[in-house]
Amino acid sequence: MRAERHITLADPADFDGFRQAARELLQQRVEPDSVTWAVAGAQAPELLSAPAAPPQAPAADTTAASVNVSPDFIDLCRQVVLHSDRTRFALLYRLLWRQQHESGLRHDPLDADMALARRMAQAVRREMHKMKAFVRFRPVQPAGGLPSGEPLHIAWFEPEHHVVDAVAPFFVRRFAGMRWAILTPQRSLRWDGEQLEYGPGASIHDAPGADAGEALWLTYYQHIFNPARLKLDAMQREMPRRYWPNLPEARLISTLAAQAQQRSGEMLARAPVATVRRLPASAPTGQPRIPVIEILATADPAAAMDQQRLAAAACRECPLGVLATQTVWGEGPVKAALMLVGEQPGDQEDLQGRPFVGPAGQLFDRAVQQLGWDRSVLYVTNAVKHFKYEPRGKRRIHKTPAQREADACQHWMHSEIAIVQPRAIVALGATAARQLLGRPVAVTRERGQWLVERGDGLPVLVTLHPSALLRADPADRDAAFAAWLADLHHASRYLTHEKQ
Ligand code: URA
Repeated sequence: MRAERHITLADPADFDGFRQAARELLQQRVEPDSVTWAVAGAQAPELLSAPAAPPQAPAADTTAASVNVSPDFIDLCRQVVLHSDRTRFALLYRLLWRQQHESGLRHDPLDADMALARRMAQAVRREMHKMKAFVRFRPVQPAGGLPSGEPLHIAWFEPEHHVVDAVAPFFVRRFAGMRWAILTPQRSLRWDGEQLEYGPGASIHDAPGADAGEALWLTYYQHIFNPARLKLDAMQREMPRRYWPNLPEARLISTLAAQAQQRSGEMLARAPVATVRRLPASAPTGQPRIPVIEILATADPAAAMDQQRLAAAACRECPLGVLATQTVWGEGPVKAALMLVGEQPGDQEDLQGRPFVGPAGQLFDRAVQQLGWDRSVLYVTNAVKHFKYEPRGKRRIHKTPAQREADACQHWMHSEIAIVQPRAIVALGATAARQLLGRPVAVTRERGQWLVERGDGLPVLVTLHPSALLRADPADRDAAFAAWLADLHHASRYLTHEKQ
């Protein structure tokens, strides 16, 4: 007769408790269907009993003494533990057991238990992403006030999985200077500017209602809402209905969606302006078409630029916007003759909201000065509008954007080109070159030449990104800088709209 084992974990996301218990169970060779899992304080239905046993667990290998688990599997366990499915601990223990006794399991891509665990981990990652994107704070003045007199910001959120603690560091980093609390049914977080406190679950009635700031946000959302781009299915997938009660803008969605067809018809019916001749008839291979509707619909390029800048400020078409401080839009005269495109904002650009103001920007300014150019006549922007980085301690380490992230961002750069209508463009580095030309570009081979390959006929000069010079061997730096100036000098004849 098999001895039953009951394990009670401290809380629903108790990975350490699970790990410790699982290790002991494995060492004592306790079979998965002899174990029941529970969470302290949970009601009877929360009992995490083992689901149906796997088809045929092979007999225990009685020689196995140590527990051997790959780091990838530990990562997977960390995520699955946060899932709300009551059988998650039993599933993970069964997988651990099978890994010790079935050598082929790791290499079986179709194994049903592994597939289930991966689906759960994916659902958890998605929920973490949603929490980062859909928490909305409302300012309140707590009774007695805060010593500093500033408001406390409170948000209500109902996560489907136990992700609150896992997402907490994101909010601490992102809103470090604010006093805030996030209330959820299971757990609450409170940040006082220095310390994060964890509290018990709360009720929606503990969270504040709508405020004046929210009215402003709604006006802004109404303004940036673009009916021509409305994809209701995609929107509901990204912002499922269960999050709507927390999202002030969700109240507008059905009304705006109902008006979308009419508004987009009106936009199209407005007379296009004659000056948009440079828009490509067809985009070069690999480049999406320019979203021209809003640009065609206005004869006022400055207004079109403002509208695009505002819309990009709320962009979540790829995940980068969630971590970045802000969208960094291009800068310069709306009718500049020469446009320069970098890769993406760096740390300083992300904080200041302006392109090329950090170390790479300072080197760029030095080049501009030595070339006798005036930066204020240039339109300077980036192929990707959000800073991509990896947090490392207190530092944020630049990461090259993935192709899909650059592609998601590409229409913003196209709209800048369509509005500015420069005479020529300089691509600073491989990312900009690729996004402008629609093909991979070997910068060292193709630098310093005008490439006329775009569907709109705009000449593109490819050269190094200033960061490449900053990374160069100090012994080579002067020569590299001189060669860079020589490349850039080719663009001197495009500084104004006068033909030279
Ligand atoms: N690197 C870029 O590509 N762009 C910036 O704005 C700053 C650094």
